[in-house]
Amino acid sequence: MLSEQIIQAIGKHIPTDRILLNESMAAHTTFRVGGPADCLILVENREELENLLSLLRKTESPFFLLGNGSNLLVGDKGYDGIVIKLTGDFQSIRLGEMKASDGNSSLRAGAAVTLAALARKAMELGLTGLEFASGIPGTLGGGLVMNAGAYDGELGEIITYVEVLNESGEVMRLDHDTMEFGYRTSAIKKRPFIALEAEIQLPSGNPKEIQERMEELARKRKEKQPLEYPSAGSTFKRPEGNFAGKLIMDAGLRGFSIGGAQVSEKHCGFVVNKGNATAADIKEVIEEVRERVDTRFGVMLEPEVIMLGKF
Ligand SMILES: Cc1cc2nc3c(=O)[nH]c(=O)nc-3n(C[C@H](O)[C@H](O)[C@H](O)COP(=O)(O)OP(=O)(O)OC[C@H]3O[C@@H](n4cnc5c(N)ncnc54)[C@H](O)[C@@H]3O)c2cc1C
Repeated sequence: MLSEQIIQAIGKHIPTDRILLNESMAAHTTFRVGGPADCLILVENREELENLLSLLRKTESPFFLLGNGSNLLVGDKGYDGIVIKLTGDFQSIRLGEMKASDGNSSLRAGAAVTLAALARKAMELGLTGLEFASGIPGTLGGGLVMNAGAYDGELGEIITYVEVLNESGEVMRLDHDTMEFGYRTSAIKKRPFIALEAEIQLPSGNPKEIQERMEELARKRKEKQPLEYPSAGSTFKRPEGNFAGKLIMDAGLRGFSIGGAQVSEKHCGFVVNKGNATAADIKEVIEEVRERVDTRFGVMLEPEVIMLGKF
């Protein structure tokens, strides 16, 4: 539990209407489950973020950087710490430093920009290459951490650099190679960096074709994925040379459920909340699936979903 003293100290840097005490995390995750965080703070600019982090580090207060909560399972008993959600300045998109001389342009976007908004903006500007991301329901920050990808595209492929705050509170610019993008991972996943903003480089394209591609991918998603139920997308990483959904299906686990959590009947790679799941139900389904797939095929599936708090 946070002390009154720390809450008061936070109030010196952040207006109190942006300090939400005992905030239910179910409202901030796409699984729609999760108990309360001690406190959720909406941070609007770099100065607020730097002051807040400096205070939290000095007082050794635990904190967690939240994007859109679309790859996150928070325990039913909540999180003993501070959840930071970026907003305000972190939602801006502007033209980057690179100009269109070689047929490429760049966009600079804050970490709290949603991938959907970024893809839409690129389309409006006649820039192609972000269509793959238009249906991923996360922020740029979360996407950089996870190296979010779909339909043969990955965020890492179009990033020129990312500005982060390191653990000493210094701003660092990580170029593409330093970001160490890999399958659903990056330097920010491995180290306690906070993504502030990133520059992406995109070639010119035809807005109408870009829009058509985005619509086509949205149709594919709707057809293949259980978007009608809360989830965190693919629950497991793709094991090498295989597909998590196929292994789960072949293990006879289609529709397998505990409480309100279920292996989707539409796409076995998704664990969904059928309406009244607890985080514990979801976690149990994940563990049971891992065990049964391992027993049957000798493959231990690795969750892609990040877990936080007490279950
Ligand atoms: C229906 C559905 C479909 C999906 N489809 C896809 C898909 O096609 N491809 C795919 O890759 N993913 C997919 N996902 C998963 C998810 O949307 C992505 O992993 C996304 O990148 C997570 O972003 P987020 O902002 O929601 O991050 P969160 O879930 O909030 O956080 C994820 C991680 O990123 C960290 N983080 C967030 N912002 C920052 C920041 N600014 N600085 C440092 N760390 C930060 C968090 O601490 C956490 O560790 C899907 C999810 C759903 C619900």
